[in-house]
Parts: sequence; structure tokens; C-alpha cells
Amino acid sequence: MILEFIGAAHEVTGSCHYLNVNGKNILVDYGMEQGKNLFENVDLPVSAGEIDYIFLTHAHIDHSGLLPYAYAKGFRGRIYATNATAKLCSIMLRDSAHIQAFEAEWRNRKARRNANIEEFVPLYTMEDADGAIRLLKPVSYNELINVDQGIDIRFTDVGHLLGSAAIEVFLKEDGVSKKIVFSGDVGNTGQPIIREPQPVDGADYVLIESTYGDRLHSEEKPDYIGELTKILQFTFDRGGNVVIPSFAVGRTQELLYFIREIKEKGLVHGHEDFPVYVDSPLAVDATSIFGKSSLECYDGEAKKLVEKGINPLSFTNLNLSITPDDSRDINTDDEPKVIISASGMCDAGRIRHHLKHNLWRKESTILFVGYQSAGTLGRALYEGARTVKLFGEEISVNASIEILTGMSGHADQKGLLNWAEKSFDPEKTQKIFVVHGEDTVTDKFAALLTEKFGFKTYAPYSGAKYDLIKDELIEETKGIPVVKKVITQKKISTVFERLLAAGERLLSVIRKNEHGANKDLAKFADQINALSDKWDRT
Ligand SMILES: [Zn+2]
Ligand SMILES: [Zn+2]
Repeated sequence: MILEFIGAAHEVTGSCHYLNVNGKNILVDYGMEQGKNLFENVDLPVSAGEIDYIFLTHAHIDHSGLLPYAYAKGFRGRIYATNATAKLCSIMLRDSAHIQAFEAEWRNRKARRNANIEEFVPLYTMEDADGAIRLLKPVSYNELINVDQGIDIRFTDVGHLLGSAAIEVFLKEDGVSKKIVFSGDVGNTGQPIIREPQPVDGADYVLIESTYGDRLHSEEKPDYIGELTKILQFTFDRGGNVVIPSFAVGRTQELLYFIREIKEKGLVHGHEDFPVYVDSPLAVDATSIFGKSSLECYDGEAKKLVEKGINPLSFTNLNLSITPDDSRDINTDDEPKVIISASGMCDAGRIRHHLKHNLWRKESTILFVGYQSAGTLGRALYEGARTVKLFGEEISVNASIEILTGMSGHADQKGLLNWAEKSFDPEKTQKIFVVHGEDTVTDKFAALLTEKFGFKTYAPYSGAKYDLIKDELIEETKGIPVVKKVITQKKISTVFERLLAAGERLLSVIRKNEHGANKDLAKFADQINALSDKWDRT
């Protein structure tokens, strides 16, 4: 019974943990690394074709983004996720494949002109995303699921994103039982639409995230409706548009939830029926999934609206189906409006067109509702740039730049400690592993957990291995510093990659049949040899 830390170890993104029990290979999350990273992730200890199961905490790409890559490499096991996570993944993984195909096309156009630029091969294709989506096994919250001999799991709502969960994993090997809890991302309290994070029962081992392990959100309860109303009133009275760069999944739906209330109460005077455009196909698909997942995922307030027959994410003059042509037209009529578009950090997508049309207008407002990471256009605007470059043009920034503060999907230090206190069992818990935080934050939060509750803690680096039965570290690492990310730029033909993956899968299928000598397998061996004879080009 071994636990190995692969990703989000002394880092925030690229969540992935490996479990080996009763000869089965399991991953908990297989996320993509995003933004700047300090450390390399070690390779998976087995090939993707040998992975039997993946348990997925939630749909965010830094937890789910490599599922199609696993499929491309031969993974054909089952992916367990909550109903809403499975639905969100079905659109987000396809979107991720689409982004990569788009990037490949753009880069390879350059590569054709310049022989020194290597051909860019995307990590995976749309077919791989569809393949991974077919392997999703949606399950309900709080249901105890028997996955395999000695492996049971249960998902608990952890209030971070629609469908997000902490996963309790119950393992039994050689008569010894251990329970491990994977926190996933722990939600912030007071988030609209979804429920508050639910604690889980005590476990032998816990992996807890620590994104905000060293920070506190503001003590004051944010007044989103009041702040948003003020910004809308001020901008509309001047005849401008409110342009909101927003993450398509989660944040956009929260905004719609607030705007519905503003409209219902008629809070923006003189513009009661202002139009709202959601100009992002992914956001529109996600909104429809949010709308259909109400019973299992909504908090009390949102449920009450549904009981009254009100759709909490809909209102009059909400424009959702927008073609690229419609998208261009949004800026041709001068009625003041709200335009919500992606990407949330303005580095890609249709938002850039809306910025081009509105940044120079002093009557418009650009409203930021989420974190803007260093180096993005969003960050430059947020920090007060007076001109920016868009589509090769220098654009003056005359619009007001506003920030809707306090919107966060993550628990702060207090929220994490709260969840920990309710979820850990001082009598039972042997060790707490602190993951999913920046380098020094993981260590600091681990020390804080020990100080507050007396727990034994450890903040592992990628590659660290732990024996869960013996309760001891069997391999320690110090982190492999990133030299250069090469994972998305291998100069290997896709056909060869696919062939290699097929080979690895073949090997895993053979190994699984180690004790199953029969006529069919003998025939299988003959077929493999016949195929090999055909392609053996020595
Ligand atoms: Zn997340
Ligand atoms: Zn995360």
C-alpha cells in the first residue's frame, strides 16, 4: 500500500497522486501544470496503460487536464467523478483539446516559414478528449462505491466548484485497513450557488490543499450585489459598457446569479432591463450544466429559487447563443450593456475583441472578478497600464478599471483550518500531507497544523513515496528544479506516439492475463506475432 506524490507537490497546479494497493494502480487527479512552476513532476511510476482507475476531485484543468493525455498513452480504465464533475469535464476537456489544436495550427504556420522552429505537436487531440470522456463513471455524493477488491471510495461536497469533492478512499491489503482522504480544493465559505464545504470523517491519512495556507480573505463579508450595482449604474449613466473578463466555468455563473438578483430588485435605476451578453461558447455550455445540476449541488438559497420556479442563472435580456458574427455586432449598437467573456486573464479568446472596442472609451468599465497572474494582459490593465497592444494595434486605456473584490473559490487559512479541525481525528490520524500550495506555503501550513492540533505533518516534493501500512517514508526527494518545460514540444510524430501507447497498452493487457493461460490467449499470441511479422522492417 504505497502512496507516491507526483504533482502539485510544493506547487499549486498539476495535481496528481499515485496509489498502489493489491497490485492495482490508481491516480487521484491527473491535472495539467499551468503558469510558472518551480519543480518538475516525476513521471508516473507505471505506464498509462497500466493505470486501473483514476479518482477525480473536480473538473478544473489543473486537476483533470491530462486525462486525455492518459487516454492517448493507452489508459482505458475507469475515471470516477461526481455527476456534475463528469458533465463539466465533458466540455472542459474538449475545450482544452481545441485550445491545443488552435495553438498547434498557429505555431506550425510559423514553423513552416522558419526552418529553425520545431514542429509543435499538441499533447492530445479531440479524439483523445472524447476517449477520456467515455471513460468517466459519474457517481453521486455520499455514496459508498466498491471499485475493486479492497478499494472503496466516497465523494463529499467540498464547496469549491460545481461537483467538487473531497474523496475518502478505503483500502484493505493483507488484512490491514487504511482510510485516506484527498481534500481536493477546499471551497471558500459564502460562495453563491454551491454549498459550503462539508467536512469528512476522520481518516488515517489526509492530503490537504494549501493554496491560501498563509493568507486570510477579508474579515468583512463582501457585498457583491452592492458593489456590482454601483459599477453598473455609474457606467450605464455615462452610456458605456461593462466588460467583464471572466473564467467560463464557475465565475461566469456566479456573476449571472448576482445580475439576476440585481434585475429582479430593479437596483440599477433608469436601465432596469439592461442587456447582458455571455460571449464564450464554453461559458454558455457550462451555464447550462450549472442549470441542470441544481438538486445535487445547490445551496439552500439557490434551491429555494428553483422551488419557486425561478432559474437562478437566467433573466430577461440575457443573450447566450452568440455566433462569431453576433460577437462582432455586440459593439456596434450603443445601448449600455454587460459583456461577460473569456479568457479570465485576457490572454486569449473573444474578450480581446471586446477590450479593443471598449478600452479606449472613457465611458466604459473593465471589471476584473478574479486573480490576474503575472505577465498577462489582465495583470497589465489591473496594474494601470495606459496603453496596451491588441491585434497589432496600440490601444489607449481610457476606460475605468474596476475590481470586484473578495471573489475566490478557495478557502483561506482560517477556512482550511476549520475544515481540518472538523475532518481530522486526533485519535486516528497518523499523518497529514500538505500539497497544492506554493513552495514555502506548504511547509508553513504543515507547521501550523502541527502547532494548532498536534498532528504529524509532511509537505512532500514530487517523487516522495510513503508506505501507508508501515507509516513510513520510503523515498524522500528535494524537488527537481524546472530547467525547461518540454512536455508540449516534443518533436515526435503523433503516429509514432500513438503506436508507442498502443504497445504499452498491449504489454499491460498481457501482464493482466499472467495467470490466464487458455486457447484464446494462445490465439492472441499468434495474432500479435502475425502482425509483428508484417511490420518488422529490419
Ligand atoms: Zn480547483
Ligand atoms: Zn486546484
